[in-house]
Amino acid sequence: MRSSLVRAALRVALLLPLCLGLAHAAPAHVHGQGNLEIALDGAQLSLHLESPLHDLIGFERAPRNAAEQQKVRDMAARLRAADRLFLPTAAAGCTLQSVSLVSAVLDPALLGEAGKAGGDSDGHADLDADFSFRCDKPEVLQGLKVALFGQFPGLHRLQASFAGPRGQKAARLDAANPELRW
Ligand SMILES: [Zn+2]
Repeated sequence: MRSSLVRAALRVALLLPLCLGLAHAAPAHVHGQGNLEIALDGAQLSLHLESPLHDLIGFERAPRNAAEQQKVRDMAARLRAADRLFLPTAAAGCTLQSVSLVSAVLDPALLGEAGKAGGDSDGHADLDADFSFRCDKPEVLQGLKVALFGQFPGLHRLQASFAGPRGQKAARLDAANPELRW
């Protein structure tokens, strides 16, 4: 009796890390945490944001009703006003040129994009956003402040990286430390 209990406990102990290992096998994102890649090429400042959809709208699937559709539209509208979310060094005179938003589980029309919906979801889904700025004086560009955290309370951290003519820089940004300087 006792030994069979021990054996059962042992089996659970052996299986548990296996299950956890399987759960980690899929490259699932971490809720609350996004990535921001910043690149400066000439006068062109390009930003690529990858965020769990959960952090932006609270769900990671196609909207099921009008209220959820509105949440997606509101998110898209806020992201399209990217010059209020991303603040490059003011003296560099950067102006927003274009925004593109993509998610495998969302109808592009809801995001304000042309094209067809498509893509698979394993229960998780990201939003991928590209922002393009053009800077009058890229040589005085020294950093970028992110104002996303107040706008999207579900987003807590951003792993940010910068690549430009003078090298590379990386930092973890959050509400208390929202600026990457280079
Ligand atoms: Zn997720």
